[in-house]
Amino acid sequence: MKIVKHLANLGYGSRKQVAMMFREGRVTDAEGEVLYADDPVDHDNIRVDGEPLDAAPGLLLMLNKPTGYTCSTKDIGRLIYDLLPPRYRLRSPVLSSVGRLDRDTSGLLLMTDDGGLLHRIISPRAQLPKIYEAELAHDLRGDEVALFASGTLMLESETTPLAPAGLEIVDARHARITLIEGRYHQVRRMFAAVGNHVNTLHRSRMGGIALGDLPSGQWRALNNADQQLLF
Ligand code: URA
Repeated sequence: MKIVKHLANLGYGSRKQVAMMFREGRVTDAEGEVLYADDPVDHDNIRVDGEPLDAAPGLLLMLNKPTGYTCSTKDIGRLIYDLLPPRYRLRSPVLSSVGRLDRDTSGLLLMTDDGGLLHRIISPRAQLPKIYEAELAHDLRGDEVALFASGTLMLESETTPLAPAGLEIVDARHARITLIEGRYHQVRRMFAAVGNHVNTLHRSRMGGIALGDLPSGQWRALNNADQQLLF
């Protein structure tokens, strides 16, 4: 691939805009030598305005999503893309969230431009446990642990019962839920099904990847070793 296409795919601009950047001498190697649009790609050795390039395709990142942000590319309200460098929204292949979190749910969200990886993570075969921390409107009754684990709980307007899910009671109004599935608004609907209501919901972990001390609204790229923690 030629550098011009590589930079356009990374969201630096349209082919035309990127071609102009070459003509202006803004694209150099690490030593400051000017590069040309049809030079071959040596990703780590390319600089734009003296800065190293954004991560190459195959990017996997984790974001600590705040509440109020939507997992969508559509321009309505605040989007998760607003929390990333602006170029990330223009990348090709596109950078997508791995599954979704509701607008009112915070916490760990993975994003990748690798479609194969995305499907491997969300595939039911992956059986990836996702851990949520819920704050509830009413005290837990105590029978929810057995109900969630039973594999018989039905959600409204669905025809198949939920797979067994883990519920750890932290205190009367706080619970930690472990899900293998990822149905629409699943945690909120599970608590609705047992007469409760989720006030706040936060995802703290997916498989071996935990949010740790990543501040709300911040992201970091994951490496191959991190990726192995998912499978
Ligand atoms: N369950 C929910 O209800 N919402 C989420 O965002 C994720 C799981």
